Amino acid sequence: MDTQYREQIDRQLCANCGGTIKWNIAKQRLECASCRTPYQAETTVDKVEEHEFADYTRREGERVSFPETTIIACEGCGAQIAVDAHTTATVCPMCGSTQLLEARQEAGVPPDGVVPFRIDRETAQQNFSKWVKSRWFAPNRLKQAYQAGKLQGMYLPFWTFDAEVTSRYWGSGGTQHHVRDRDGKTRTEVRWRPVSGQVGGSYDDLQVCAAQNSASQVVEKVLPYNTVENTTPFSPSYLSGFLAERYAIPATQAVDSAQAQIQADQESRAEGEILSRGYSLARVDRVEVCYHRLTYKHVLLPAWTSAFSYKGKRYMYIINGESGKVGGQRPYSVPKILAAVGVAAAAFAAAVLLLSGEPAPRPVGEASQQEAVVCQGEFAWQAWDETLN
Ligand SMILES: [Zn+2]
Ligand SMILES: [Zn+2]
Repeated sequence: MDTQYREQIDRQLCANCGGTIKWNIAKQRLECASCRTPYQAETTVDKVEEHEFADYTRREGERVSFPETTIIACEGCGAQIAVDAHTTATVCPMCGSTQLLEARQEAGVPPDGVVPFRIDRETAQQNFSKWVKSRWFAPNRLKQAYQAGKLQGMYLPFWTFDAEVTSRYWGSGGTQHHVRDRDGKTRTEVRWRPVSGQVGGSYDDLQVCAAQNSASQVVEKVLPYNTVENTTPFSPSYLSGFLAERYAIPATQAVDSAQAQIQADQESRAEGEILSRGYSLARVDRVEVCYHRLTYKHVLLPAWTSAFSYKGKRYMYIINGESGKVGGQRPYSVPKILAAVGVAAAAFAAAVLLLSGEPAPRPVGEASQQEAVVCQGEFAWQAWDETLN
C-alpha cells in the first residue's frame, strides 16, 4: 500500500479515537462511529459543480471515479461496485450473485455530488414489509424469500443534465365551426391553418440513471430524488459503510434520454403556444431544438437494495434512501389471480392492469421539469409499475 493511499484512508479515521467516520442518518451528519465526534466532510469544492457537456470526453479519460476504493466486478450482471476499506461485499447488491471478483478500475468521471441517506435501515425495512404485505398476488413462499433478503445500503450512479434551449416549431391550429348541410342538419367541422413559432425553456437536473441496465427499471419505480435541493459536494466519507456502483452508462449515452425529455417537453410547449393564440385544437409537426447551454454532473443517490433468486429467477427490490419509496419485481401467483377473478370483476380488472405491465403513457404536456426523470436501457426484467408511497 503506497503512502498516498494510506493518507487517504487516514482522513476517514477519527483524530480523537481512531474510529471510522460515518454518515449518521438520524443526526444527518458525519461523525465518528465510536466516540460520536462530529466531522465536516473533506471536499475540495464548496458547491456542486456543473460541467460543460462538450468537455465530457476529455474529463472521462483523466481520472478514476473512486480513487480511494477497491472495485469489485459482478460476474452475474456486470455491475462494478466500489468498496471502501471498511466495507465488504459478498453478494452483488444489484443481482444477488456471489460471483464477485476484484477488478482494475477503468478511467472515469468522479462523483460531483451526493444525496446522503435520510431513510435508515429500520425504516426501509418497515416500508418494505408493508409493501410485501400489500402484494396479495405474490406467492407466499416468495414473500418469505423477500423478507429474508438483507438490505444493503448503496449509492446508485446518476447523471443530471441542465439545459437552456430555444425551439422553432411548425404545425397547425384548428378552429371548430358549426355548419348546416343541405338536409338542414348541423355538424362540426375543423378548419386547420398552418402555424409556426418559437418556444424555449430551461431545464434543471434532468436525472438519468447510469446503473447497469438490469437495475434501471427497478430504480425507475422509486424516483424521483430531490437532487436540486439535497445534493451536497461529494466526499468519500459519505460512502463509509455503504457500497457505490460505478456508472455503467457514460454521460455521452445518457444524454440521449435527457434530450428526448427536452424534445417532448418542447413539443408540448409548442402545442400550448398554438392553443394560446386562440385555436381550439393544435397539431405540432416538427420542432427543431437549439441548445444554448448543456451541462452535466455526476451524482450518487442513496438506496437500500436486496436481490435474490427464487425458482431459478432473480428478483430485486429497491427502497429510495431519500424518500422511502419502494419498488421491486415479483412473479404472479396464478391461483391467487384466478381466485380473485372468481370473487370480483373489479379485482380482475385490476389484475389485468397489473399484468399488462406497461406503465401508462404520459399524456403530452405533463412533462414538467421536476417530473422529467428518466431511466434508460434495455430492460431485462419483467415490467410492472407499483410503488408504495
Ligand atoms: Zn472517535
Ligand atoms: Zn450483479
